[in-house]
Amino acid sequence: MDKAFDLREREFNDRVNIALRSVAKEIMELNKDSSDVPPVRQLSSNYFIVSTNDTLHPYLLESLLDAEFRSRNLKTNFEYSIYDCFTDSLVFGGAVTLSEEPTTSAEPRVIPKWERDSHYFGVYFPDKDNYLISQMTIWVFSSSILLVVIIFFAYTLWVILKQKRLSEIKNDFINNMTHEFKTPISTISASAELLRTGNLDNNEEKRARYYQMIADESNRLKLQVEKVLQMAQFDTNEIDLNLQSCDLHELIKQAAGSVQILLEERQGKLKFELNATDHILKVDELHFTNIIRNLLDNAIKYCVESPAIVISSKDASNGISISVSDNGIGINAAQKKQIFEKFYRVPTGDVHNVKGFGLGLYYVRSLVEVHKGTVTVSSDSNGSTFTIYLPNS
Ligand code: ADP
Repeated sequence: MDKAFDLREREFNDRVNIALRSVAKEIMELNKDSSDVPPVRQLSSNYFIVSTNDTLHPYLLESLLDAEFRSRNLKTNFEYSIYDCFTDSLVFGGAVTLSEEPTTSAEPRVIPKWERDSHYFGVYFPDKDNYLISQMTIWVFSSSILLVVIIFFAYTLWVILKQKRLSEIKNDFINNMTHEFKTPISTISASAELLRTGNLDNNEEKRARYYQMIADESNRLKLQVEKVLQMAQFDTNEIDLNLQSCDLHELIKQAAGSVQILLEERQGKLKFELNATDHILKVDELHFTNIIRNLLDNAIKYCVESPAIVISSKDASNGISISVSDNGIGINAAQKKQIFEKFYRVPTGDVHNVKGFGLGLYYVRSLVEVHKGTVTVSSDSNGSTFTIYLPNS
């Protein structure tokens, strides 16, 4: 603010300087004087003087000053005097009201004298500070409008970028979903076709394998559909938790059972280190099992070698801490924050081969938070550990 005021003042001084120089020039032209235009001297913040080589008529000076100041938009009141070196007297010329406000000083001021051996005239601005402040108000006002415009513009840009990201996410999701659904559907239809056309030479073993394949794939399809439906429901409704005292160790084992087939397919191993002593907590059984299943699913999915998973529990302050560690591809630091976002999938590396909607961890975090808990992840190139903390009250 001070800086802005200084800037305004400097600009004011410059404008006064230019105006007074052109008044001096006009006077010299009227007097047919061809010498150099004299410099303008500023004796104080609001008092300026200009030497002249001859005596001056006050009315002439007033009309010249008036016209110059008006044309330079210096609309502040001023007083002027003329010094006559012959009589050594500073004669008050007059006070001119240029601004809409009358001058604040009731009496015309006696302009200080400047010792010199020639004629000069002085111009005094009694309301300079007020004038500058009023100019500042315009400046502050226009700056505020500019600020509002900039904020509005930034907001619009933000909305556009957000929309763009949302639309990208939506496309990714649709692609993923199509992919996820297409594979089981084509396996099912191919198996059904084989069974229908009877090209299996009545081989009972083969037949049973294809029936099993159809059953497995429809199950997978069912799970995928459930996942999406669960998400849609989860978005539109407040989650209604059915809290019951449950043995979390039992639920963990139950969830592990449901990923057993996946684990076997990959020749993986799952180790339990369930050391918490206080493992009876009030949770929603279905959601808690889903949380653990999602973490185990990921531990199996995002692993290049055979998965070696450890699921552990220990007592934590006023609650329990449950961790799922894997020997998978790990997550780099930049992506750690984003993996819990809805639809987010790490876009590079082997992950492309792994299918998913990017909803699992979003679900995990949201439900852990509804249980008033937290979920954190630590990861390096040897694998990742997801840790859930749940309070016991
Ligand atoms: P999805 O598995 O369907 O892609 P998630 O929300 O479960 O969605 O996971 C989000 C992303 O986080 C995954 O795409 C994956 O890149 C990364 N991720 C999750 N779990 C692991 C893990 N155990 N190891 C390495 N990366 C993981």
